[in-house]
Order: sequence, then C-alpha cells, then structure tokens
Amino acid sequence: MEITFYGGSHEVTGSLALVKTDKYKFLVDCGFFQGNENDYYRNKKDFDFNVKNIDFVLLTHSHLDHCGRLPLLVKNGFKNKIHCTPATKDIAYYILLDSVSIMENNWKRYNRPIIYTQDDALKAIGHIKTHNYYKTFSPVKDVFVTFKDAGHILGSSIIEITVQEKEKSHKLVFSGDIGNTLTPIIKSTDFINGCDTLIIESTYGNRLHKGVDRRKKDLLSAINAAIKKGGSVLIPAFSIERTEEILYDLNDLINNGSIKNIPVYLDSPLAKNILKVYKKYKNLFNDAALKKINSGDDIFDFPNFNIVDDANESLKVINDKSPKIVMAGSGMLVGGRIVNYLPIFLTQKNNMVVFISFQAKNTNGEKLVKGHKTIYIDGKKVRVKCDIAQISAYSSHADKRKLKSFVKNIKHPEPNNIFINHGDVMQSLGFKHDLAKISRAKLTIPKPGKNYLI
Ligand SMILES: [Zn+2]
Repeated sequence: MEITFYGGSHEVTGSLALVKTDKYKFLVDCGFFQGNENDYYRNKKDFDFNVKNIDFVLLTHSHLDHCGRLPLLVKNGFKNKIHCTPATKDIAYYILLDSVSIMENNWKRYNRPIIYTQDDALKAIGHIKTHNYYKTFSPVKDVFVTFKDAGHILGSSIIEITVQEKEKSHKLVFSGDIGNTLTPIIKSTDFINGCDTLIIESTYGNRLHKGVDRRKKDLLSAINAAIKKGGSVLIPAFSIERTEEILYDLNDLINNGSIKNIPVYLDSPLAKNILKVYKKYKNLFNDAALKKINSGDDIFDFPNFNIVDDANESLKVINDKSPKIVMAGSGMLVGGRIVNYLPIFLTQKNNMVVFISFQAKNTNGEKLVKGHKTIYIDGKKVRVKCDIAQISAYSSHADKRKLKSFVKNIKHPEPNNIFINHGDVMQSLGFKHDLAKISRAKLTIPKPGKNYLI
C-alpha cells in the first residue's frame, strides 16, 4: 500500500491524502489551502492525480481546509461517493456555499476568477453519503471504515480504515483535527485501541494551551472591564464551534447574573446557519450540555440575545453607541461583517476587542494583538484607541500534551508508522521530537507529493 500527501504537511492547511491499495485509490479530505498569498493559485490548480480513478473519498470534518476543494474534485470528473458523518455534511453544505460567495465577492472586487460555482458545490454535496459514529461501513469490497468522535467541531471524526489485501489486513488511522480538552458542548475525543499506521495532525504539536480551565473567567473579566467604562465588546468569531462555545459561556454568565443587562448580538450569516446545525444534533453533545438542556435551559439563548438578520440591521447595530456585546465573523478579520464594525469600533476608547483565537501572521488581527495603534482597512487608515484582549484557550485544537496522550493510548497494536502532518514545520518537528521519546514507530513528516510505502 502507498500513501501520498498533497498539502497538509509542511503546510498549516489544505489537507489531502491519497491512499493506493492493490485494488483501489481513495482520498482522505480534500481541503482548501488557506493563510498564504499564493493559496488562490494552489487551490485553482489541477489535482496531481487522475480524479476519475478515485474510488471514494473520506471526509474527516467540515472545516474549509479539509473540505474546500471537494467541488473542484467533482467539477474535474470525480463520480463516486464522499463519506462523512451527518453533521459534517450539514455544516459542509453551508461552508462550501459560503466559500462560493467569498469567491464571487473576490471576483467583483479584484477580478479574481471563480474556482467553482454554487452548482459545483451543490453537486459535491450530492455525492455525500453519511454514516453515524461507530457504525462500520464498507465503501468498496475489502475496505472497512469507522468514524469515531474527534471532539474538534460538531461531526468531526477520526477515521479508522481496515484494508484487506491478499492474506493480510492493514489498519490505518487518520486523526483528522483533534479537539481541545474540556470542550464545553461536544463530546471529548475518542481514543483508538490500535493501528498499523497513524496519520496525526500537529497544528499545536509544539505548543501548550494555557488557561483552558479559566477561559470563562477571562471572558467575564474582559467583558466587565469594558462595561465598567461604558463601552462595548467586539468578539471576532469563527463560525464553527467557537461561536457556539462563547454563546454557551455567555448563557451561563448571564443566567447566573455575572453579566447584567447588556444586549448580545450575533452578526454573521454563516454562524447563524451553523448554529441551526448545532441545535439539530443535540445527540452529539456531552453530558454536561445535555443536563442543562434537560433542565429547561436553551444553551444558545438567553435574555437580550439577538441574531442580526440582514445588512441593514447590521448597520443599525454598528451605529448604535450604547454598550453591547457583538460577535461577528470572520475570526481573523479577513472579510465578513466584522470589517464594517472595525473602523467605528476601534476608534472609541471605551470599547474592547476580545480575540478568542490565534491570529495569522501579517493580518490586521495580529497587528491589533501586538498593540499596533494604526491599521489599514480597505486601504483606509484607522486609529486604534480601544482596548485589545486575547483569550487563546478557546482553541478547538488539541495541544501537544493531548496529542501525545492520544498516541500513547494506541496500544493494541502500537503503530509501526506515524506520519505527522497538518502543522507548520516548527510544530511538526517539535511534536516529532516529543513522540520519539514515547513511541517505537517510524516517525515521518511527509514531503508533499512523495509516495510512502506502508
Ligand atoms: Zn479543523
């Protein structure tokens, strides 16, 4: 058997692996490259393999860097099934349509050609076949697949694949993205008993998350500091998982009286749709969240919570100077409604912007976190007078401690081969160094496009 990684190694994003068995060829994930100036061209480029020969695709989860090029795959002639969990399909539907509307905007603003259309995205969704966690299925004869809960975002999975070749069978495990500890809504990560080959992500392979257990307190202090000054709080939010986690914590803080009498707005058309998917899959929530729901609490709703419906309503919220909390997309300040808030919001000194996630290099988000007093939005200079806070513990990714314990728990059998991918080089190298101390497996940080025999 052979495995080749196209993106996802030495790259933060663009996850895609091609597995060739003696009879079949299949892909695990087919993601968009994100976070680099050349990404548009890489996403637009033809695949390095014959798309028509691919027998099936397995999708770990619905983040764009894992599912974003599925419409291109179908557009280029892929005719077979894409397998994932039901929640992954529902979220991927909104993510892919959102990706099309971003491309349409970029066409209008920068004349950048559209990579795929809404029709291509809907066709890709039409290829999806869903499977619940723990129900083993056989996409083709002699290949058996089981999705387990990765605890990363709703519907995210670790994929166990057993391939029967001639006399022997080989078990591969793709970790997908692994969730953080103490995740407030969804269940925690499943552990895996054993495998021959492990493909593990390393987004935070060399980093420890600090303050996971006090993130709600940190959020409360930031909000109360702004309210005390008579200001408002702006939270740049990612649409999947983190928006829901913040709402979940705000629901607690407002219900127990820690935050008083302040309107909260969710201003993101994508987050509004994803929230509907979360509400549909309560069966995937953890016991603590279910206990609250069963006691009659709507964990995503509380007094004075408003979902902004359209651009006109959004303008009203932007121009209203009274104290409030606004969560708006996108989380990295690249596109989305938040771009309309910043020129007004940043110049008012009583306000506070609370970042709840890592900000990519050379973005306005990173400049604000670093304390820059001037930024440029759409070419216009904006003076930063408000306060800036960052709470990094809301990450939906495992840190190196959890990634290591995930590997340590794979015992029956221990993997012979571990491929460390989906992280920038410093994260992958740091994780490899740590794994060498606890695992006897051959450790590889794969080179994109190179074939590895397993
Ligand atoms: Zn992810």
